[in-house]
Amino acid sequence: MGMEIIKGLATTLKELGKKPTTVSYPEEKRELPARFRGRHVLHRYEGGLERCVACFLCAGACPADAIYIEADENSEENRVSPGERYARVFDINLLRCIFCGYCQQACPTGAITLEQIYELSSLRPDDLVYHKEQLLEAPDSHTRGSITDWTPEPPAETTTPIPGRQGFFDGLEATATAVGQADLPAEQEILLDGEDEPATERPAYGPSDVFNAPVTPEQREKREN
Ligand code: SF4
Ligand code: SF4
Repeated sequence: MGMEIIKGLATTLKELGKKPTTVSYPEEKRELPARFRGRHVLHRYEGGLERCVACFLCAGACPADAIYIEADENSEENRVSPGERYARVFDINLLRCIFCGYCQQACPTGAITLEQIYELSSLRPDDLVYHKEQLLEAPDSHTRGSITDWTPEPPAETTTPIPGRQGFFDGLEATATAVGQADLPAEQEILLDGEDEPATERPAYGPSDVFNAPVTPEQREKREN
């Protein structure tokens, strides 16, 4: 018994001169690793447009089904993002989220990143469903998030800026981003192969071609009205 007390005291004395590993939280905060993934932030472009174009890729990639988005169309009177659509509703249920970062990886516009924000406690579960208003950075801010801390910047010659330009796709006005035509020149009409033939004589399209499938005259009339 006496020996054990001496051994215990020796251990205490050995540790006395060492720097403590604890910090006086919340006055002091520990430096986090660069890859720490905390609460999500939605980003803007310089000029205020939102990066999110409501493509739903993040929601599709999420293994926890934690992201809920409702999209709306941009218009010239109400342009929110450079794409055809923007996220009118963007909710993340942080009670479901496992902070895996798949949503960040899936996002084609760099709109969503997981940041070093970890003070997320609440007494009410509802408070942990974060809404777009809480996730979106301030109108005068346009950061890219901490992703650059751990992903090397791609070489400049390999990057294609997201075009905000508008052109014509299948006879209808559309953004270049929305139709996957990254270099769509403005004012140029894009016609698909065989589009000038009657709809009934065009080649059949499989499921993977649905996005590029030509629009029938009936569909076109419906869209234009
Ligand atoms: S971090 Fe993972 S679990 Fe959380 S919202 Fe993103 S994809 Fe879903
Ligand atoms: S955050 Fe990114 S991936 Fe998710 S809907 Fe917006 S643009 Fe698409």
